[in-house]
Amino acid sequence: MTTGAYYLPPGLPAPAPNPDGLGAEFWEATARHELLVQRCNACQTFQWGPEFICHDCLAFDMGWHRVSGRGRIYSWERPWYPVHPALREGVPYIVVLVELPDAGNVRMVGNLLGDPKQEVSIGADVVAVFEDHDGAEPYTLVQWRLA
Ligand SMILES: [Zn+2]
Repeated sequence: MTTGAYYLPPGLPAPAPNPDGLGAEFWEATARHELLVQRCNACQTFQWGPEFICHDCLAFDMGWHRVSGRGRIYSWERPWYPVHPALREGVPYIVVLVELPDAGNVRMVGNLLGDPKQEVSIGADVVAVFEDHDGAEPYTLVQWRLA
């Protein structure tokens, strides 16, 4: 995606890794346009969002695994009410919960790019799109578009 072409209006808070560093590798990867999901080094179970402990085997041995960026829509909603002042001119928009089949079906939240009034189908195939934001503290959001 071209820098400066953002799905939501400017003025929203920028995402950031937790102060303890959890999630830093994810955000560094999105800047390289790579999608990482946390995976346990002990039992290979994927999980999302990032945690210090594996929810499956309780090991404190979490790593990161690069995934394809292909997913499918598990659920979605179309907000019409601006929950933040920056969204006053930005509604409606589409929020999708995307399931990643090549990462143990973990689910990530993002926006579905394109017409905010488009029909949305549960199970539709989507691919990750990396939305670069410039500024004093640049970051890259993971958005989704229909495959
Ligand atoms: Zn584990």
